[in-house]
Amino acid sequence: MSYRLAVSSLAIVLIATTTSVSQSLDAMVDRELPMLVEKYKHLHANPEISYQEEKTSAYVAQELRALGYDVTERVGKYAVPNRVCYGVVAVMKNGNGPTVLVRTDLDGLPLQERTGLSYASNAKTKNETGEEVSVMHACGHDIHMTSFLGTAKMLSRMKDRWRGTLVMIGQPSEERGAGAVAMLNDGLYTRFPRPDYAIALHDNSSLEAGVVALCEGYALASVTSVDMTVQGVGGHGAYPQTTKDPIVIASQIVLALQTIVSRENSPFDPAVVTVGSIHGGTKHNIIPDDVHLQLTVRAYKEEVRKKVLAAIERIAKGIAAAAGVPADRAPVVKSDENEFTPSTYNTPELTRRVTKTLQAALGKEKVRIAEPVMGGEDFGQFGDGGKIPTCMFWLGAADPGRLEKYRIEGASPPSLHSSQFAPLPEPTIRSGVIATTAAVLDLMQR
Ligand SMILES: [Zn+2]
Ligand SMILES: [Zn+2]
Repeated sequence: MSYRLAVSSLAIVLIATTTSVSQSLDAMVDRELPMLVEKYKHLHANPEISYQEEKTSAYVAQELRALGYDVTERVGKYAVPNRVCYGVVAVMKNGNGPTVLVRTDLDGLPLQERTGLSYASNAKTKNETGEEVSVMHACGHDIHMTSFLGTAKMLSRMKDRWRGTLVMIGQPSEERGAGAVAMLNDGLYTRFPRPDYAIALHDNSSLEAGVVALCEGYALASVTSVDMTVQGVGGHGAYPQTTKDPIVIASQIVLALQTIVSRENSPFDPAVVTVGSIHGGTKHNIIPDDVHLQLTVRAYKEEVRKKVLAAIERIAKGIAAAAGVPADRAPVVKSDENEFTPSTYNTPELTRRVTKTLQAALGKEKVRIAEPVMGGEDFGQFGDGGKIPTCMFWLGAADPGRLEKYRIEGASPPSLHSSQFAPLPEPTIRSGVIATTAAVLDLMQR
């Protein structure tokens, strides 16, 4: 009897402690929220595209420095020589314990914002080819940065609750799949403490604000961009017999590529082959010399990705050969390994642990199981080929009222990368800070 009583009072004490921790975290975040929303609006109105995050990274660095982090800027080395990489690394050491990496991305997208918000972006810039483009945080990386800065502040104020080394990183060029690998190539894991865990969040346009969702195992797909030049032998449109028409050959290739996923790949291994761009020719009566195609290839497993890429090349070359194209004019197929990103894998053990923590911090009903998607992210790079447990969770960002309206109308809310994507700041940032802070506190608990 007395033993049972002791066990149950211990349980009560434990529940009470967990509740008071989460309540005090909630209260701390609520006090901070108006300031965080201001920061969010500033970041939202001042986006920078990939490779140009100079001011954004300086802002994040300065905020982290003010909180007492040891901050290093311009961490990262791109494959393109002399391109400045605006990676930020902020370290806070707090005794012996695990090293945890928390990542935000920094970049916006070349897009004209059409949300009509009072803090909408009017920013413009020149892209790599010198073209003027509008800029918008259409993927919500401004939400990520704000949650990240809020988390950095909470953890700097709660040093009595955790021990170990916290590594907070601001990663540029996520949208180009180039920033994570650039930071790793510049010694992220050798010049700075190598993490035992890496965590991140991504906002979600179809999940209501205040809710998070995550799944174990593969969460996002690997992304490979493929460029193909189908070479023919051009000539007059009236005399096709004197040519090898690359437009007809490219058309056959596009259709034949559809059989890779449907006929060559196991239905249990998700993969996507999309031809997103096809260009060739200049005039009605000219058969051109070549046609250019751009493809995106998605998969979870590396062996599937390799198999799909090999099949694309084999099919393209086989069809061209069947059309009588000479071997020296065979299609040229290139995949850009500089912008290749591996799949994002949520290490099951870590993900189960984070899920439990999020349930305790936000309430069980606010934590959902996510479906894996074929979208991509370069966060997977931080897992170092599966050696470091990683977990990325979705952060609901949609206005619940608007979401319900879309549902009744049978329509979809504006997705990420849409010019009308408008996250609901307060509840989204609030749950982002609470969730990330709670996850780190649990991994680094005293
Ligand atoms: Zn994006
Ligand atoms: Zn994104």
